[in-house]
Formats: sequence, structure tokens, C-alpha cells
Amino acid sequence: MMLIPAHHFRDIERKPEYLQPEKCIPPPHPSAVGTMWFIRDGCGIACAIVTWFLVLYAEFVVLFVMLIPSRDYVYSVINGIVFNLLAFLALASHCRAMLTDPGAVPKGNATKEFIESLQLKPGQVVYKCPKCCSIKPDRAHHCSVCKRCIRKMDHHCPWVNNCVGENNQKYFVLFTMYIALISLHALIMVGFHFLHCFEEDWTKCSSFSPPTTVILLILLCFEGLLFLIFTSVMFGTQVHSICTDETGIEQLKKEERRWAKKTKWMNMKAVFGHPFSLGWASPFATPDQGKADPYQYVV
Ligand SMILES: [Zn+2]
Ligand SMILES: [Zn+2]
Repeated sequence: MMLIPAHHFRDIERKPEYLQPEKCIPPPHPSAVGTMWFIRDGCGIACAIVTWFLVLYAEFVVLFVMLIPSRDYVYSVINGIVFNLLAFLALASHCRAMLTDPGAVPKGNATKEFIESLQLKPGQVVYKCPKCCSIKPDRAHHCSVCKRCIRKMDHHCPWVNNCVGENNQKYFVLFTMYIALISLHALIMVGFHFLHCFEEDWTKCSSFSPPTTVILLILLCFEGLLFLIFTSVMFGTQVHSICTDETGIEQLKKEERRWAKKTKWMNMKAVFGHPFSLGWASPFATPDQGKADPYQYVV
């Protein structure tokens, strides 16, 4: 097996004759500002629908099998409010992660005028993406599903049917966090329900027949465990890559660091917004990233 070092590919890309600006024509109908970002990918759309369906299934079992038939009114109301709030925040984060432009580089901007406007000095290099004909800022990568170059692309996630990049990473992290929390909460409630119902008469415990109740609860257990493991690992990986300021792709390619090293706290603020506030946990608060780093086309 031959291993080609990562920088080899970059070297090919940076030679001026490969830029071929004359071949780049900006798209005739550039997408209007304010158009909703949505990736038309069948697999991604199916995965996103499955995600919603699974959350709604958990919602159904928690409400109609466990909380509403329960005679402990205070227990039901408190757990009902907590579970519904977390589920709502999870689905809202999912929507924002799916419908936010992750940081797409303008398509077809590798025109002669644009390259000239960068006023390259001898020895300076720019990268051009041969697939979408755009001049890539540093740390941008091309995604074959989105068919665009994405700034600080981490990975393409079919579950949110979008790339995870500079502009939507906060929503993706919140999505994994809230899914992990509702999974844990559902598992705890199932545990209490089983303990409680073993002591009592099954018919008083649920409005469904005992076999149906057990099947619904066991399926919820499976779902909760699977999601808890998957999303908490994902959450940990994401927070680690934010703190070290290294995207998933950069870790995979073992790219050497060309960007300034900042403190963990600064890196967290760059993703979740400045300053630290309750807005960090809200999928409705658009992070103010300070826009400290302008486009770095020139390396
Ligand atoms: Zn590209
Ligand atoms: Zn993508």
C-alpha cells in the first residue's frame, strides 16, 4: 500500500497553472440572500425523518404509557415538563443544525477578477477547489454530499442532513447534548416504572395491556441506551475538537497546525458565542463569533 502524504495533494492544488480561472464561471442564478439552506440528499432526509420519528416515539411512550396513567400527580407533572422541554430543545437544535448554512464558500468565485483582487504577492498561494470552482479559505474542505466547500468542515452528518462546519457546530453540539439528556431521563423513568409496577397490579400501572406495555418499554430502553451511548460519545468528541481547535477532518488527515493556538475558553467562545451566557444552551441564540478571523484565502 502506498501512502501519499497529505501535503502532496495540497502542493498540486497550489500551483498557479492549476487554478485555471478562465474555466470558472459564476453560476447564472446565484442563490439569493436569505434563501433557506437545505441539502437535497435522499439518504440524509430519510435519516433526519427517522431521528424525528424516534424522538416522537419516546415522547409517546413516556407520556401515554408512563406519566399520564400514573397516579402520582406531582411525579408526572415534574417529569413531564422536564422531558418535554428537553425534547423540544433537541428537536429545535436539530432544525437549526439542518437548516443553517454550515459555512459554504461562494460557488464559482475562482474568477480572474477575484484572484486579481486578492493581490497575491510572489510566493503566496491560494487553494482552488476543482469540484466547485471556488477559491478556498484556509481550513475549508469540499463535501461531496453538499457539493460545496465548507469552512472548518468537521464532518457530514446524515442524521442532521447537513455538514457540521463553522456556522452550525453549536447547534450540532446542542443536539447531541439534548438527545443524550432525554435518553438518560427516559431510562431513569423506565427504571422507576418497572420498580413501581412489579410491586403493584399491572392493570393499574398502564392503560395498555401488560404485554404491550412491556414491549413498548423494552423498545424505549433499547432506543435510550443506543442513543445515550452514541450521542454522549459524539458530544465528548465534539467538545474535545472545539477545545483543541482541530476539526474532525484535520485530526483524520493529521494536518499540521497552521493557525494560531488559543486557549480552550477562547475556542469555546468562538463556537458558542461571546460572552458566556445562558444563550450557550439555547438553539435559538445565534452565536456572536466576533468575526475576529476574516476570510483567509491567502496562505
Ligand atoms: Zn469544493
Ligand atoms: Zn456536507
